Amino acid sequence: MKEMTWIVDVVTGALTVEGLSDGDFARLASDLLPHPQHVNCARPVGVPPIKDKVTTSSSAGEDERLRIFRIYHHSVVEGPGRRSVVQFSGCDRRCKGCHAFEAFAIDSGALLCIAEVVEMLLATDGEPRDGVTILGGEPFLQPDGLAVLMRELKKRDQHITLYSGYTIEELRARPEPGVHEALALADILIDGPFVASLTSGANEWRGSTNQRIIYHPADYQTEGS
Ligand code: SF4
Repeated sequence: MKEMTWIVDVVTGALTVEGLSDGDFARLASDLLPHPQHVNCARPVGVPPIKDKVTTSSSAGEDERLRIFRIYHHSVVEGPGRRSVVQFSGCDRRCKGCHAFEAFAIDSGALLCIAEVVEMLLATDGEPRDGVTILGGEPFLQPDGLAVLMRELKKRDQHITLYSGYTIEELRARPEPGVHEALALADILIDGPFVASLTSGANEWRGSTNQRIIYHPADYQTEGS
């Protein structure tokens, strides 16, 4: 039996299909639907990385900077509903088969003021949105800036889905205050590395079945706790 997911964006009418090869799609729906476009894990295609630049800003977060690879809107598979997404630069896990390989280098993307990241995420061309998703790269490589960004987003009533290639147990063992503040501010944490052999049945939001969808990670009880 083959599992597939069909997602209709109720605002744009766009249809996203997961779990079908090009050939399967053509056999099933080519007489009904236009030629499909690949959307790597349902993020919009063709969104270029941010070019390196150092910005200035006079609003909240002006002293804090983050290395950011890409920002895009209207993702429907990286957390609940429609999301504006920020992809952090840098990942030291290098999971085999990870689609975010372009963002592996810590000096990829651009160094941005957090105020500008907030502004870009909440830009009107991303509306309507159900929240913001933070992924990587590995967001916890920049824990202090991550926490400041999440604080600013929470001040603006944003629902936050946060991805990490580390498990919540690994993150909780880290000493940096920013790691713990970020875990406390997240509405959803999707944790753990991508494992290419465990993609079957991962369903929505996750790349592989080892990853966990943890609602309110601040309240998550680990075994023995
Ligand atoms: S931790 Fe995430 S971003 Fe990093 S290699 Fe693994 S899947 Fe890719």
